[in-house]
Amino acid sequence: MSDLGAIIRSMIAQEGPMSLERYMGLALGHPRHGYYMTRDPLGASGDFITSPEISQMFGEIIGVWCADYWARMGAPGRINLVELGPGRGTLMRDVLRAARVMPGFSQAINVQLVEMSPVLRVAQKETLRDAGARIEWFHHFGELPPGPAIILANEFFDALPVRHFVRTRYGWRERVVGLGAGDGLSFGVGPSNISALRVLAPEGSIIESGAIGQRLMTEIARRLVAEGGVALAIDYGYAQTALGETLQAMRAHAYVHPLREPGEADLTTHVDFAALARAARSVGARVHGPVTQADFLLGLGMAARADALKRAAPPARGPVIESELRRLTAHSNDEAVDACRASGMGSLFKVIAVAGSGDVAPAGFEKAENP
Ligand code: SAH
Repeated sequence: MSDLGAIIRSMIAQEGPMSLERYMGLALGHPRHGYYMTRDPLGASGDFITSPEISQMFGEIIGVWCADYWARMGAPGRINLVELGPGRGTLMRDVLRAARVMPGFSQAINVQLVEMSPVLRVAQKETLRDAGARIEWFHHFGELPPGPAIILANEFFDALPVRHFVRTRYGWRERVVGLGAGDGLSFGVGPSNISALRVLAPEGSIIESGAIGQRLMTEIARRLVAEGGVALAIDYGYAQTALGETLQAMRAHAYVHPLREPGEADLTTHVDFAALARAARSVGARVHGPVTQADFLLGLGMAARADALKRAAPPARGPVIESELRRLTAHSNDEAVDACRASGMGSLFKVIAVAGSGDVAPAGFEKAENP
């Protein structure tokens, strides 16, 4: 058992079983032993890989999207370019480079990064050292200074803790983490019924609820409505709220049990985009999408970008660029293969934009049912 596993066991021994939300919060964010607090998890030698780490084209397309939205807003003289959970800083580096094509945009930007991990902050400083932008770091979204903002979040909402509710023969009860056999941890259910949950479902059903992510989305939307701007969230997720749980743990590009080694494996869930959209609309923001990552990136010209890169690169790079394009945009429904993100992120990943004003629509959502 990991160091954090021993700490969690003693907490449970003293206080009783804990909610999954608390467990995930500790596993990912415990100040000394949390998964994100102690390591850089990204890349071939880490536990998982993300779109900006697969190809520069991802950040470039998003950079042009940001500059375009800024122009559609009427090119305000100052704009906060915010990223939530910037990882190694790769997306922001590529965004800033691509955004230079829009006259005046680079000069208007203040970059603000919301990052809880000290290790990743160091990586971000290094990656962005020569980016030629003013950059500030924050721990929480609520600490950001006022002003219109363009907010980016790639694979951020999937890292926020969730709660599970289990339909027992007595009613809905919260799924909890308790002491298991030996020195392990195990899932159980809490002692009392959650009477506010009135969903009809057979015994054994599970509801996954991302209240932390929804509250954050409400906060983002409220701010965009008040100050102007847009948020773009990209994640592995689904478009309609549904029964069932999607918690998964990943270590070294393979799935492991989520209670096995807390602090040593990444924990994520698939994002409920319908719930995020409801959270944003509840305070008056305009929601665009979700659309698939493939529709979003190809609609904004990623195939042409790949061709341009291929023309400028040595011939041997051509097939590499082609395979990066495929990984980011190919449709795949094979979740098992997807652990390696090799088989295509095009349809499993989705994109949503939340605009503070109905007057300024973002590019890339023409195929959405609610453009
Ligand atoms: N966006 C990056 C990294 C995704 S991993 C990419 O696409 O490569 C998730 C990121 O969110 C990491 O940087 C992690 O440290 C950060 N993070 C996770 N939970 C957080 C929280 N509650 N507050 C701030 N940052 C968080």
